[in-house]
Amino acid sequence: MKRTRLADILSSKKVGDHFVVMGWVRTRRDSKGGFSFIEINDGSCLKNLQIIADKRLSNYGDEIVKIQTGCSIRASGALFHSPGKGQDVELHAEEIQVLGWADPDTYPLQKKRHSFEFLRSIAHLRPRTNTFGAVARIRSAMSLAIHTFFQERRFFYLHTPIITGNDCEGAGELFKVTTFDLGHVPRDGEDVDFKKDFFGRPANLTVSGQLEAEVYAMALGDVYTFGPTFRAENSNTSRHLAEFWMVEPEMAFCDLEGDIELAESFLKYIFAHLLENCHEDMAFFNRFIDSTVIETLEGVLSKGFERLTYTEAIEILAKAERKFQFPVAWGNDLQSEHERYLCEEVFQRPIILVDYPRQIKPFYMKLNGDQKTVRAMDLLVPRVGEIIGGSQREDDYETLLTRIREAGLNPDDYWWYLELRKFGTAPHAGFGLGFERLIQFVTGLSNIRDVIPFPRTPGNVSF
Ligand code: ATP
Ligand code: MN
Repeated sequence: MKRTRLADILSSKKVGDHFVVMGWVRTRRDSKGGFSFIEINDGSCLKNLQIIADKRLSNYGDEIVKIQTGCSIRASGALFHSPGKGQDVELHAEEIQVLGWADPDTYPLQKKRHSFEFLRSIAHLRPRTNTFGAVARIRSAMSLAIHTFFQERRFFYLHTPIITGNDCEGAGELFKVTTFDLGHVPRDGEDVDFKKDFFGRPANLTVSGQLEAEVYAMALGDVYTFGPTFRAENSNTSRHLAEFWMVEPEMAFCDLEGDIELAESFLKYIFAHLLENCHEDMAFFNRFIDSTVIETLEGVLSKGFERLTYTEAIEILAKAERKFQFPVAWGNDLQSEHERYLCEEVFQRPIILVDYPRQIKPFYMKLNGDQKTVRAMDLLVPRVGEIIGGSQREDDYETLLTRIREAGLNPDDYWWYLELRKFGTAPHAGFGLGFERLIQFVTGLSNIRDVIPFPRTPGNVSF
């Protein structure tokens, strides 16, 4: 089944050459002059290829005039300059073969615009729309840029486990992993007898690869993970998924300053890559989804990020004329409304907040000299809010032990993590970037369910 992808034909425009193409029909219209225009798309790019089918083709009356949106076809022919508006070149078919029919009465993707909500209910077909095709290509391009960025800087790609015995964030939003028959769970008195379970103890899907990444950073220097992460948070928001992808670099011999520098150069690198390599899809998002996305990315490249402390942010929020739903007070976590107010109204660009109160951040973040705040940094962007959360890690054994206890966790579960602070401890730092939040930011799509192929959210695990 040799074929040429449309992206190659449409970018090289080799008029006169002969091609075989295959794809799905977007539209067919018949002209009075005795031929049909068939637009196909094969997913390799946003643009369609126009195919001219002459009535002299042997299957014209039997098949070609019955071709409808959604059919898959194979066409061969020569490429010509197109006299029509909307395309530079077109294929004059010498042969067209229908590979798969699509009944117009039941094929749900007819030419009109569909709501994103409706498209979520047909996640098996939505990648054939312009928007979801573009999202898939952007995710792919961004993934490559992420690997290239780190590999160029001598970071090693680390594969951390998906099934773990620890709860990194200490937030308890875990999916349990078990082979128990849930109707007959073995008990030891009142309690579940996990000794009889597959791992002999409770296990869960990972909420972060960070703790394991720290292990490898303390041996290889600089590492990163890029993989799926699971959180059973029952928050039906437009920014939370139960399964999402996270990028987590971790660097030895690095403090918060180095961590922030990495986050900044990382984002600038992947935004530049996107603007350079994904013109067509980015122009599409800018035109149909959010007319500020390109300008916003260019702004990040030229102006960078505003930086302030959590305490300064609270002072600004306390003085704001705006009424917030959640109270503003030192010690409270910032809510999305606060984050967005700071980014969108006060600074009008992405911001990095540092030095959060210890009680609202996980145990592994390094305690500042004031004993009240930790060396944390959150990177917030307009529209989406937090896309990166990072910190310098606590590298002092005793302090870490206190913080683990303070968080209500059992130090025995973290013996190996604690030992890293006993044997050759060193300053180290890292962050976690939510890949889908990043895709939301660059595409302008407002719901996180629309930037991942098959979203998993409370009550929804279809497809
Ligand atoms: P939030 O306060 O928005 O829930 P968080 O503080 O729980 O985020 P972290 O634990 O710091 O987030 O995780 C690192 C990054 O992972 C976040 O900055 C965000 O980009 C992303 N992230 C966290 N939770 C989710 C989720 N449920 N769905 C998608 N991305 C997420
Ligand atoms: Mn969260």
